[in-house]
Amino acid sequence: MKIFKFGGSSVQDATAMKRVSEIILNHSNCGIVVVSATKNTTNELEQIAKSASLNEVNLMQKQLESLTLRHRAIADDLELDIGLSLSELESELQMCSQSILGDGEILPKKMDALYSLGERFSSLILSSYLSIQHDRAILLKDIREIMITNDSWNCASPLIGEISQRVQLWKPAIEDALIVTQGFIGSTISGETTTLGREGSDYSATLLGEAFSASEVFIWTDVAGVATCDPRIVPSAKFIEQLSYDHASRLAQFGAKVLFERTLEPAMRAKFPVVVKSTLLPSEVGSRIFDLPKRDGVVGLALEGDILSIIGENLLSEEVSILNNLSDYEIYKQTNEYVALRILSEDIEDFVREVHSKIL
Ligand code: ASP
Ligand code: MG
Repeated sequence: MKIFKFGGSSVQDATAMKRVSEIILNHSNCGIVVVSATKNTTNELEQIAKSASLNEVNLMQKQLESLTLRHRAIADDLELDIGLSLSELESELQMCSQSILGDGEILPKKMDALYSLGERFSSLILSSYLSIQHDRAILLKDIREIMITNDSWNCASPLIGEISQRVQLWKPAIEDALIVTQGFIGSTISGETTTLGREGSDYSATLLGEAFSASEVFIWTDVAGVATCDPRIVPSAKFIEQLSYDHASRLAQFGAKVLFERTLEPAMRAKFPVVVKSTLLPSEVGSRIFDLPKRDGVVGLALEGDILSIIGENLLSEEVSILNNLSDYEIYKQTNEYVALRILSEDIEDFVREVHSKIL
């Protein structure tokens, strides 16, 4: 059984949702679909909370209206008859926002309750659309039934033992239905909503992968995999077809934006591959992250602020000496597995392109 996770841009509008449906149709072995909130929704929920906390009622109402209208429009474009279910979520959205009114600050616990609406809207819409498109039974499930976490609001940690017990509740359903559920959100043992941290949906998917002994977890996103460097900075960057858990985690940890930092932890424990693929270019191979044996050399670059990390294996050799020909940097930290440079050059991106062209 495979688990597919679709990010916010992959479900941003009706066209994107249709693309997702098509991808699922082409993969009958997908058993669980994990979905993020539609693009920008989580940021908007933060704006709503901010307006509410400052008691800016009119602004808050405007922001609420824009968010609900956008979701209504997607449902309309897909010709879905889910007005009632949307109304329920809209009332809860109102209630959660009202609860923050005039607080003067955003209490993390209240933010988590509000955050949860984003993924619940997108999963409702996607599952309803899949139901009319697919012959298979489609079941919308609330991930909070099984994604049990501690109460570190806004960046909760999963309670693995508890999750592995709770998944038994879903196992019979998976036998004959495709489950659609939410990324990012969870619940404390006592039933209060939590979240795993911004961008945490990838982690939700791999946690489910571990709990359900999935054969593979696919992270469907808007780029065709993990690249040797951020392609927005280095257009010549290449997608890495195969990489080890270790290298992929280090790239994520040092600033590559493709995967949430903790995503690979469950995959490493349970030893299933994580495949990163593009919803826009599904026929591209993408990146497969697994127990790949290590080989020496540079794997990729990750930039965070002015720190450029060169990630790889046995890096104390030639590759790094190439850097001697460059100026405008200082070595910030160096181990066998990575070299971190502080870029002193005014043009950080140009420096990154230069390093990329020299060592990759
Ligand atoms: N919707 C959440 C966020 O934007 C989680 C995710 O998309 O991974 O942070
Ligand atoms: Mg993401």
